[in-house]
Amino acid sequence: MPGKHKGLSCKEDALNPQQADDLLLVCISIRDKFIIGCLLLAGLRVSELAHLKRSWVNFDENNITVPIRQFCACWECTQKRDGEWRPKTKHGARTIRIHPQLRSILEEYLYSHDGISLTRQRLWQKVKQLANQAKILHNSYPHCLRSTCAIELAHRGISSASLQYLLGWARLSSAEAYVRSDRRRALKEVDEIYT
Ligand SMILES: [Zn+2]
Repeated sequence: MPGKHKGLSCKEDALNPQQADDLLLVCISIRDKFIIGCLLLAGLRVSELAHLKRSWVNFDENNITVPIRQFCACWECTQKRDGEWRPKTKHGARTIRIHPQLRSILEEYLYSHDGISLTRQRLWQKVKQLANQAKILHNSYPHCLRSTCAIELAHRGISSASLQYLLGWARLSSAEAYVRSDRRRALKEVDEIYT
């Protein structure tokens, strides 16, 4: 959409907390839980989810680390990137704290799989299918789950700088758009001042 802030367009399609819970609840298989959990609870980009390996996750330190680069034999990386996958920007290489709800999902799924082995297109279809099952009527796609993760962190009072780092944005303004316009957080802060 020309002239429109990229982060904001996804923000408008983000799920509310009830929809986010419903979406997690319709995931029956551990693979579906893994897909939705990585997008919704870790805020990964769909390309990052498609390339996540067991080696990205450090359970001892409770972190997921998106590497600077990774050899990859998928069609897209072979055709377009000389067999090397990289995050969208250099800021995409980052370490993310594992959400408490995501940890057991990662442990179970990665115990027997070294990644998702699905293309970005298939992941889009999967998100749409699960959102339909959860009766989420508005437009649902992987990026709006990432956006939902950013909104939740903003609600809980994260700073713009930390949000920028965790979501792997190149610009601070992407994070500020979330933190600045958070109604629930603003009211909570005012309540703390008034009491
Ligand atoms: Zn690849």
